[in-house]
Amino acid sequence: MANIAILGAGLRGLYIAYELEKLGHQCTVFESSQHIGGALVTTRHDSGFLTEDGAHTLLINSEKVDNLIQELGALRNEIVQADSQKLNRFILRNNQLNPLQPNPLALLKTPLLSIKAKYQLFSEIFRKQQPIDSDLSLYDFFKEHFGAECSDYLLDPFIAGTYAGDPKTLSAKHTFPKLVKASESNGSIIRSLLSNKNKFKNKIISFKEGLVQLPIALSQSLKQAPITETKLIEVVHNKEGWNIQFQVKNELPKSQLFDAVYSTIPAHKNHSLPLSELAKNDIPDFSTLEHPPVSVLSLGFHSEQLKEPLSGFGYLIPSKEKEDYLGVLFTSSIFKNRAPENHTLITVFVGGARNPKMASLSESDMISKLYPKIQSCLQIKGDPVFSYTRHWESSIPQYSMDHDKIISQIQNFENKNSNFFLSGNYRNGISLGDCFSDFPLPI
Ligand SMILES: Cc1cc2nc3c(=O)[nH]c(=O)nc-3n(C[C@H](O)[C@H](O)[C@H](O)COP(=O)(O)OP(=O)(O)OC[C@H]3O[C@@H](n4cnc5c(N)ncnc54)[C@H](O)[C@@H]3O)c2cc1C
Repeated sequence: MANIAILGAGLRGLYIAYELEKLGHQCTVFESSQHIGGALVTTRHDSGFLTEDGAHTLLINSEKVDNLIQELGALRNEIVQADSQKLNRFILRNNQLNPLQPNPLALLKTPLLSIKAKYQLFSEIFRKQQPIDSDLSLYDFFKEHFGAECSDYLLDPFIAGTYAGDPKTLSAKHTFPKLVKASESNGSIIRSLLSNKNKFKNKIISFKEGLVQLPIALSQSLKQAPITETKLIEVVHNKEGWNIQFQVKNELPKSQLFDAVYSTIPAHKNHSLPLSELAKNDIPDFSTLEHPPVSVLSLGFHSEQLKEPLSGFGYLIPSKEKEDYLGVLFTSSIFKNRAPENHTLITVFVGGARNPKMASLSESDMISKLYPKIQSCLQIKGDPVFSYTRHWESSIPQYSMDHDKIISQIQNFENKNSNFFLSGNYRNGISLGDCFSDFPLPI
């Protein structure tokens, strides 16, 4: 049995602790804030609206994650599932919301794409295996397979909605490694997806009282609750292992020896860890890893303000449309219980790599600049009856074209600092599902 320290009580840190405990190890989770769940922050407001500061949906795309949630006892009764089949996604083009269902017939019919783009999209199935530059941007990789229009009107808005990013600056092999492998081994991405033997049916879920219920359930299942409001004073390697000196609130500092440490704190915060000078020098240069600012603006309405009830997931905006926001989720249409009776909640995403300055506007400036456009798009009468904003100065890590360099610096750090693992979302993917990816075990 090893004694293990985990830095950060976000979803990743809690998952690592949960799995290590199952293997018989003893885990102590250190969290600097008061809050469990990191970027997962849910608030039920007095008005009855339920807002999420960050992530709104968890995509379950494997048996492993599905089973994990079932293991967490009472949490399984709290699941709310989006009806993916019925809920349309929309893409804005020429001020029109174009429905987009990911099935071939709907794609053939969609007015979003020209006939030429549809032909390029569907003819990809015949693409032969051919050498491809493994260092392409996501945009170029997608263009190579499906043409420029599909990259502009399908990929670009999708990346705005997931990474708050720009596909022209993201690395294909780091953001979508499975698609790049499929292309290399099969030639066609569509053929490869069709031949996929994994019959797991993806689900998009949240919980009745929001996504924060997941990290809370994980932390409650740990033998030792995470230690919150903790300041790390020293993290040093000696002959016996990793000695951590820490202080909880205003209590006297304590020291504890660990066999291994997993850091799951945000990339740029690793530089301020109180490591020895030697280990500090090996910390990867995360200053090159961009995390663009994003603001998440929740707006509530009385249902009478809407011409008809909103139905669908929401809409995303391609950068070619030159709008000042990234997209809108129809939050109360995706999951029940997000708005009081006879009310509707939407969430507007602002900023990202495309328009970082917009994210810094005050809530009132954001509303006066963006709301008229949203209002006309969704045919809403009058002003919102509820608003709430969360600003993220550093949102989501962008796996850009020089991400190889960061990965090799991480490996170099871990080679030199035995049993200290850098396990944040700059490594195995940025989604909540990626927080459940495998991790190295201590030696
Ligand atoms: C606006 C936004 C929208 C998103 N939407 C989605 C979505 O819809 N679906 C999806 O799948 N993903 C989404 N994501 C991504 C996803 O939420 C994150 O990638 C994921 O939550 C990261 O989890 P984590 O545990 O790695 O890091 P975090 O959640 O950042 O947790 C790290 C923890 O470390 C703590 N910490 C920091 N410094 C120290 C220290 N010195 N000592 C101890 N603790 C420390 C922090 O307080 C925090 O609790 C979104 C992200 C953002 C920002």
